[in-house]
Amino acid sequence: MIKYISTKGGVAPVDFETAILDGFAADGGLYVPEVLPKVSKEQLTAWSELNYTDLAFEILSLFIDSSTISEEDLKQLLKDSFSTFEHPDILPIYPLKSRNKTYIMELFRGPTLSFKDVAMGFLLNMVDYFLKRKKERLNIVVATTGDTGPAAGFASINKNSIDTWLLYPRGFITEEQERQMTTIEANNVHAVGVEDCPDGADDLDLVVAEMFADKKLANELKLSSVNSINWGRVMMQTVHYFYGYLRLVNQIGEPIHIAVPSGAFGNLCAGALAREMGLPVEQFICANNQNACLHRAFSTGIFSKKDILQSASCAIDIVVPYNFWRYLYFMTGRNSTLIRQWMDDFKTKGVAKFDAINYQQISHGFLSVSISDEETLTTIQALYETENYLLDPHSAVAVTAVYQLEQQLSENIKVLCLATAHPSKFPAIIQKALLTDTLPHSAQHSSIETAKNRCHHLRLCHYGNLKPALLHAMKTVHQ
Ligand SMILES: *Cc1c(COP(=O)(O)O)cnc(C)c1O
Repeated sequence: MIKYISTKGGVAPVDFETAILDGFAADGGLYVPEVLPKVSKEQLTAWSELNYTDLAFEILSLFIDSSTISEEDLKQLLKDSFSTFEHPDILPIYPLKSRNKTYIMELFRGPTLSFKDVAMGFLLNMVDYFLKRKKERLNIVVATTGDTGPAAGFASINKNSIDTWLLYPRGFITEEQERQMTTIEANNVHAVGVEDCPDGADDLDLVVAEMFADKKLANELKLSSVNSINWGRVMMQTVHYFYGYLRLVNQIGEPIHIAVPSGAFGNLCAGALAREMGLPVEQFICANNQNACLHRAFSTGIFSKKDILQSASCAIDIVVPYNFWRYLYFMTGRNSTLIRQWMDDFKTKGVAKFDAINYQQISHGFLSVSISDEETLTTIQALYETENYLLDPHSAVAVTAVYQLEQQLSENIKVLCLATAHPSKFPAIIQKALLTDTLPHSAQHSSIETAKNRCHHLRLCHYGNLKPALLHAMKTVHQ
């Protein structure tokens, strides 16, 4: 049975169910499996024809014992979680016409049109499954840069084992994203708009972390989190790397490159773990916007915090990429003492410096770049004009990164770009990129249009009062 331990090394090993329901480890670290399962070439070959959900079953079975979730129940959970996706392939792949051997995998065909749906539906179905079995309830707190909130809200609808609180920084997300949260009709889903956040969603993360650190409070309110700190998200996200790989290659063993628009590093952390498990990825391309914390770390070995800049790709406006710690933990050979020290340095001085040996490990097989808004918009327009394919601003950051790193990519290797949102979530940016007031059909989506004709339900509060306001709301919500 795989046990789960904390990156900070300060908690006794727990079982899978506890790691999922706790979210955060009690020492402030992140849960990781004690052993990372390995996948052989033979196994990859045997999986090469599987559809997405069948492949997900095989991979998740490496992490979840059948005594925790039976095979039959796991299959059913996966089936329920992905039946809400609008495309029969779940994650369709589009080969670019204008660049050789380059493919776009659309991770945004789920109910709220972003890549967050890929892991969130399954995670919340699994949480509900565990809670029903234990006859318990939880308050799930979600801080969002715009896409996690809608995904968590949708996935929580009418699950009576949970109340889900969606905290978002007002003014930092698009109207469309806000509406996706405030128009949910379910009495267990609560949108909370937080005003005057100086640093966007990172501020909310701070308050949430503070609430979790208060053990008495966290126990009393039965708090949990499905932010990307939750192991369940990272675990589920390893699947699309295997899936994309198997769809792309002619021969198992052939290496590919994968480009990912990155914010909190949850998606790429999963990719890096998939590679550790045995997936042949030659280079990961970590694509940042102008909030280039990860790019700085990969290119200089200095992991530093800077003020947030609002960008055209708001879901990756992150200054503290929390899942990077998880990745660093593995790359330092599971050195939790070092992780504690770096976390401390980062928190107190705003910077952690990697020594030469660790930096070598950390940056191995990673290219990175920081893309400006102007470059992002140019790519959106260029691809739309040349081949009538419309990227959202986040996916465009990844595609632009591939263009810019051209020289460092071996010519004969296929490149997979992860597309993480549907353009209809960002109409103002699309209009700006295409220099038009009329949105093309591909920038529209029926669910976004429908939400315009619904009532908003939300709570509002100021950042400075968030904690007491939220506590009061949680205590009184069902009285
Ligand atoms: C969350 C998100 C990302 C970034 O994923 P991380 O796991 O935070 O790096 C990229 N694009 C979109 C559209 C997202 O919603």
